Amino acid sequence: MHGQSLEEARAAQFTTPPPRKVRCPIVDMHTHMTEPGTNHELVDAARLYGITRILAIAPLDDGLELARRYPGEIAVAARALLPQADSAEPIEDRAVHIVRRAHAHGVRIIKFWFAPRIRDRLDFLLDSSRLDPVFDAIAECGLGVLVHVSDPDRWFERRYDPARYGTKADQYPMLEARLRRHPTVPFLAAHMGGDPEHLDHLAALLTRYPNLYLDTSATKWIVRELGRQREAAREFFRRWAERLCFGTDQVVLKESDPARYTVRYWVHQMFWETDLVCPSPIDDPDSDGEPVLRGLDLPEDVLEQVYYKNAERVFRIAARSAAQITSRPAGASPPHEFAEAMRIREDPGPSSGGASGIRS
Ligand SMILES: [Zn+2]
Repeated sequence: MHGQSLEEARAAQFTTPPPRKVRCPIVDMHTHMTEPGTNHELVDAARLYGITRILAIAPLDDGLELARRYPGEIAVAARALLPQADSAEPIEDRAVHIVRRAHAHGVRIIKFWFAPRIRDRLDFLLDSSRLDPVFDAIAECGLGVLVHVSDPDRWFERRYDPARYGTKADQYPMLEARLRRHPTVPFLAAHMGGDPEHLDHLAALLTRYPNLYLDTSATKWIVRELGRQREAAREFFRRWAERLCFGTDQVVLKESDPARYTVRYWVHQMFWETDLVCPSPIDDPDSDGEPVLRGLDLPEDVLEQVYYKNAERVFRIAARSAAQITSRPAGASPPHEFAEAMRIREDPGPSSGGASGIRS
């Protein structure tokens, strides 16, 4: 069952999504935005696809401005480590201030980027003691962390010199050290923890660290690597449904290109919710031959966890604003969903943030 063929979708520029398999709010836990003024096309696409809340990774002030522009729709993941050439204050000290200010503004997640290429920018890694005060502040404020470590196997084969960037296995001890040191902080590891190729490794990490969660972002990579091991991926999602959060890694560009956003939401919907098999409409230079979308057709209860329940329960990102809740037609949503959304909404703190800023 898939509801729409690629040809039909393409003819409409991906602006006529088929009905959802589950009727629930959806949080996109991983997007990047630039200047607050240029982001409407991603928001339009999200509305069209029933994404009720977008977590935008951004420098704090840009994020807060975006959240003001899209109240109830955008939440912020504030970037903690921002290089600033004209500042005498060490980057980690500035990060502590960002964490405290983010918390004061109701932001719930702090973003760190420790992909292999961080070695070109910083002289320390995620487990450096220089970051201890930053993570202590995060723990004290009760915030969550979104962190990118590692990259596709293909990139280690084709792009990275191990002498400079380490092997893929070398990327994980720094994450594990942080997970061990801060057991009360939930960590959302981006892009299926950087290792969708090796679900056994991810299962071992999830077993060892109860504070570890994974997001599903990086459309091409996830579709390629999970689609090629469909059965194992389905089983993984069933087993770990409470530890996985939907995210896309949509990146807002300055140039207008509405189909860029709609096609990615279409691919995600078809991949998670249907068993459609078709050529993927997104180019993938790392694919062997033409990229193929092979839908996982996840069960409804798994979709609900991944789409919003974990975002709300673990990271306190409300899936819907009060306006969205009250504007629903009477009886459109089961009472327990209402209760859950209301409980989150009553959690003190201003709107849960906003975002913008270059990708990190
Ligand atoms: Zn990203």
